Amino acid sequence: MAEIIDGKGLAKKIRENLKKDVEELKKQGINPKFAVILVGDNPASKIYIKNKNKACNEIGIQYEEYLLKEDTKMEELLNLIDKLNNDNTINGILLQSPLPKNLDINEAFRKIDYRKDVDGFNPINVGKLALGQDCFVSCTPYGIIKMIEEYKIPTEGKKAVIIGRSNIVGKPLIQCLLSKNATVTICHSKTKEIEKITRDADIVITAMGQPRFLKADMVKDGVAVIDVGINRMENGKITGDVDFDEVSKKASYITPVPGGVGPMTIAMLMNNIVKATKEQNK
Ligand code: NDP
Repeated sequence: MAEIIDGKGLAKKIRENLKKDVEELKKQGINPKFAVILVGDNPASKIYIKNKNKACNEIGIQYEEYLLKEDTKMEELLNLIDKLNNDNTINGILLQSPLPKNLDINEAFRKIDYRKDVDGFNPINVGKLALGQDCFVSCTPYGIIKMIEEYKIPTEGKKAVIIGRSNIVGKPLIQCLLSKNATVTICHSKTKEIEKITRDADIVITAMGQPRFLKADMVKDGVAVIDVGINRMENGKITGDVDFDEVSKKASYITPVPGGVGPMTIAMLMNNIVKATKEQNK
């Protein structure tokens, strides 16, 4: 039976340490401040930003929300980002995705000052990550690496398979795992015979949005499984991309959904805001 990776508990520990860091910063007269931009009325996005607000309150980070209408023009959004870039009291900026279809998210990410880009989506941070340089790493992959480190899951020389190639999870995760000396394979919807690839893996990370896709017969004994997926089922329950009940019987480590990767993502966002604040006040 697998050891369950307690993302919720680890995230709490990280937030407690960050709270102490913020108290220290405040003693020096430095008040970390975080700005979130939400365009439109996406209900899931509203829940996400509410959780970010809550985490900021708990840690002592000032939180500011900029709510723009669904029909906001690109120029208006870029002007707001520009204003926040130039506001010295703001240390971190996050643009909540997805954006309404008429807006270009890549152009918006490019506009965010890379020194305030706590989500790690500006191409400068993406490029630095690829080059192995210090940067803001996007929060979900960063949280996954923290869990792997905390549980001392071996990566060096190990075969890691990622399913899902999105810009926010799968792709940055390649660099994160490479930097930990894993041999990395990435799969996607056009990959043939995924099960042949996953069966050979020491670590499998699913970031697909396909409920219970990874079955027990797709993995080998002793595999470490990290489940990024968040799928809301018809009964209102949330489930991951992994058939947890069956895969956990074979795995050495496994993350639950909820309570695994999700809380770590927010904790690493908080970490990045504190990092940005410290760097801007050096
Ligand atoms: P995207 O929809 O952007 O990407 C999904 C990826 O999965 C794509 O690369 C897609 O392939 C691949 N995929 C989908 N179906 C299959 C399949 N049947 N076989 C193989 N590959 C497949 O999703 P995100 O990366 O944004 O998110 C993935 C999941 O993780 C979602 O459930 C999301 O809610 C969750 N998530 C959770 C977070 C957390 O903090 N816990 C944070 C971010 C996301 P292709 O590229 O070919 O289309």
